Amino acid sequence: MKALVLEKRAELSLREFPDISRAEENLGPRDVRIKLHTVGICGSDVHYYTHGRIGPFVVNDPMILGHEASGTVIETGPDVTTLKVGDRVCMEPGIPDPNSRATQLGLYNIDPAVRFWATPPVHGILRPTCVHPESFTFKLPENVSFAEAAMVEPLAVGVHAATKARVKPGDVAVVLGAGPIGLVTALSALAAGCAHVFVADLAEKKLEIAADLSAAITPVNVAKTDIAEVVLKATDGWGADIVFEATGSPKAAAHVFEPLCPGGCVVMIGGQSEPIAYDCGAAMVREARVENIFRYAHVFPRCLGMLSSAAIDVKPLITRTFDFDDSVRAFDIAASAPPSDVKMQIRMP
Ligand code: ZN
Repeated sequence: MKALVLEKRAELSLREFPDISRAEENLGPRDVRIKLHTVGICGSDVHYYTHGRIGPFVVNDPMILGHEASGTVIETGPDVTTLKVGDRVCMEPGIPDPNSRATQLGLYNIDPAVRFWATPPVHGILRPTCVHPESFTFKLPENVSFAEAAMVEPLAVGVHAATKARVKPGDVAVVLGAGPIGLVTALSALAAGCAHVFVADLAEKKLEIAADLSAAITPVNVAKTDIAEVVLKATDGWGADIVFEATGSPKAAAHVFEPLCPGGCVVMIGGQSEPIAYDCGAAMVREARVENIFRYAHVFPRCLGMLSSAAIDVKPLITRTFDFDDSVRAFDIAASAPPSDVKMQIRMP
């Protein structure tokens, strides 16, 4: 099968890939085989391409990239009951050990044994077909497109973050970072009931996209303005109920409590490959609650429900679509981080 393969750091090729292990391609009784339709390019895919590693996960052998995907069921195992051939689906890319202690506690996303697409040594899905468990494969509502469905994976991060923040109706939130994760977090915070969301970034283009998403979003260019100052002024000196940190930047994290109100909540979302520092004193005087999230759990059906009901619209975040044959070029463009792009997707043949 032809796949997009990360041979090693900075070397991608579109080539026949015969060496997917039998275990990965064998259809178990409760598995489905899926023909891939749309795959989003994630910051993590690009990071593996440019750096060859993310923290402890190192690309030592050629690995197929991609984990944000939608497609069509083409075969079902004998014990599959909820899906049938022809169903349009999206897939949750992390498969935990069903018998692990973390999974039994409902914390399957932090199961140390989780196997997550395009995280070495597990292959991703920039390839024609894949085999996936029925329980991590979700049927699409009729009015949700393949492109929107391939956005469910990043959207799930935002919904998980809003859930952990315990958003209340009328809350004021700040989102640091207007990349794909920052923007899906802003949309999730609004869908969860926030009255107002300030989105902070350095790139004017990304802030324009943020502002166009909702009248309840105020863009703040932190190259020119101090985010804490803007938020305190808008809230009579009180501060925001929630600050979502979605940059992963040590500079942003250092000031993460400044716009936060007393008793507020900070959610750390941005991926950090290096340790970062934050101001514990500033957290203490506010009795701030700090939540950390790792991917998501139990939110794919909720995301599909919100896309279907138009509670959340991710279409404005999909800024470019490439053919699979053009995917090496797509990754080179993604690696150059064009300021006017949010999410780039690849359409499979
Ligand atoms: Zn992703």
